[in-house]
Amino acid sequence: VQSSPPTRTYGGLKDQDRIFTNLYSRHDFRLKGALLRGDWYKTKEILLKGHEWILQEMKTSGLRGRGGAGFPTGLKWSFMNKPPDGRPRYLVVNADEGEPGTCKDREIMRGDPHKLVEGCLIAGRAMNATAAYIYIRGEFYSEASNMQEAINEAYAEGLIGKNACGTGYDFDVYLHRGAGAYICGEETALIESLEGKPGKPRLKPPFPADVGLFGCPTTVSNVETVAVAPTICRRGGSWFASFGRERNAGTKLFCISGHVNNPCTVEDEMSIPLRDLIERHCGGVRGGWDNLLGIIPGGSSVPVLPKDICEDVLMDFDALRDVQSGLGTAAVIVMDKSTDIVAAIARLSAFYKHESCGQCTPCREGTTWLNNIMWRFVQGHATAREIDQLQELSKGIEGHTICALGDAAAWPVQGLIRHFRPQLEARMLDFARENPDVDLSKFS
Ligand code: SF4
Repeated sequence: VQSSPPTRTYGGLKDQDRIFTNLYSRHDFRLKGALLRGDWYKTKEILLKGHEWILQEMKTSGLRGRGGAGFPTGLKWSFMNKPPDGRPRYLVVNADEGEPGTCKDREIMRGDPHKLVEGCLIAGRAMNATAAYIYIRGEFYSEASNMQEAINEAYAEGLIGKNACGTGYDFDVYLHRGAGAYICGEETALIESLEGKPGKPRLKPPFPADVGLFGCPTTVSNVETVAVAPTICRRGGSWFASFGRERNAGTKLFCISGHVNNPCTVEDEMSIPLRDLIERHCGGVRGGWDNLLGIIPGGSSVPVLPKDICEDVLMDFDALRDVQSGLGTAAVIVMDKSTDIVAAIARLSAFYKHESCGQCTPCREGTTWLNNIMWRFVQGHATAREIDQLQELSKGIEGHTICALGDAAAWPVQGLIRHFRPQLEARMLDFARENPDVDLSKFS
């Protein structure tokens, strides 16, 4: 399905429409500062409106999960809306942010931790959950420290815990530090890890909403998704839906890194053109737009796009899907013409090989082979037929694994072949020119 054409110019969010007002921790992250920024305002009234009302506002907002998959949040949370069966229900917040290029959730937890604590309470109420577990990446020391301080303050003020906000609703929030495995960002691996087991993804079904943490109904949501819920409830789902295009609503944190003049994490409107995002917030590409080689628009798991596609594409789920890439975590990795694109994608393939949990064969073996062949290209040892082998291998991984890490390993390589095949071929020719005595057929 082709997405609808833009109906207006997107981007250029006004200050009064920003949800995250303490990026880079310029202000006090503690409760006093959070109250000044509008957190915990009318939380009691929101809770007393009940879980159906919160779910409806989330559906109206059009919010899609900010962890990368983009599943409609209101719908996902409503899977927990079923008759009680004696088991407690849990909200698990995925704060394991390990996707290369992604640095947005850590900004929230470091500078705006109360937004996440309040979000846990409101999301938990929407699901009638008894507790939230925030699973935070092990390396995030300051973020974990600030989060714990915010949780302690919220308990001390009666905002969470028994009779949260004086509503009669009991809700606990726990912080759990991970140990640095990328795969623990996958929701079922995260649940396994929370239970004290090795972080290996589970086969689905059953889905976590039926059998999740400790065998109980569970919803796993990303930090940004949960942290925007209080503002959506306060300002209304239709306010949030007024930003961005249809099916791609809201404001969004973008993290832009690589060859730009001012790498940053910034909140702007969904569907902002990629070029505008870079020029407005990052001072442009290093050496000017003409010096651009390509961009990975959504964290390392989505295919790289060449400059001519980056020219007009919008930063949203549907527009990036239409160009065979993805919004992912909205981590924009910019590469100028000084980049060795073959080596860059080879480095990513090494990452996925290292982070594979190893429990399914196409991923365990396939990521190793992808990486081996990619390094042959980097070193100039590969032959022409290995380009097709790479493609075939990546197709053998894609869609044939327990979790999405296999796809994440395959897609960047597919993007390289789709858009940068001449660079792969030039690599072989360069090697042949520089090493006329080497019999290339030995490497095939
Ligand atoms: Fe593990 Fe990879 Fe299989 Fe996911 S796809 S379960 S990471 S082996």
